[in-house]
Amino acid sequence: MDCLFCKIAQETVPASIIYKDDEFVVFKDINPKAPIHILIIPKKHIVSINHLEAEDESLIGKMFLTAKKIAKKLEVAEKGYKLVFNVGRGGGQIIDHLHLHLLAGWKNSTERNIPGMP
Ligand code: 5GP
Ligand code: ZN
Repeated sequence: MDCLFCKIAQETVPASIIYKDDEFVVFKDINPKAPIHILIIPKKHIVSINHLEAEDESLIGKMFLTAKKIAKKLEVAEKGYKLVFNVGRGGGQIIDHLHLHLLAGWKNSTERNIPGMP
């Protein structure tokens, strides 16, 4: 399958990977929209939230627990961060492999206003 994020998960395309385990790979966004912009992806190819099946219930739960773990590791848990899923083209999704954006590190609320992000 010709999917960029599958290739990053398989490490055949390079990325700044900061964490990986049996189910997830976590890496820096190539075009950061915040001082800290991380993507959390499952190794399993799922197109988007719209494509989740009942069997993915535990995976999606673990994806949030991974986000929590990464926020702590990056020392942004206390100060705060955003978690964002873009869903479909109308929602701003350009890569058709499920990914959770973790955004953080702003100095103040003005800096936190990100074009194209809630
Ligand atoms: P989306 O708009 O689909 O929710 O987010 C896709 C994200 O993937 C974008 O923020 C974009 O900058 C990032 N991205 C696209 N191509 C690459 C890549 O080759 N490597 C990395 N690390 N991030 C990418
Ligand atoms: Zn994929």
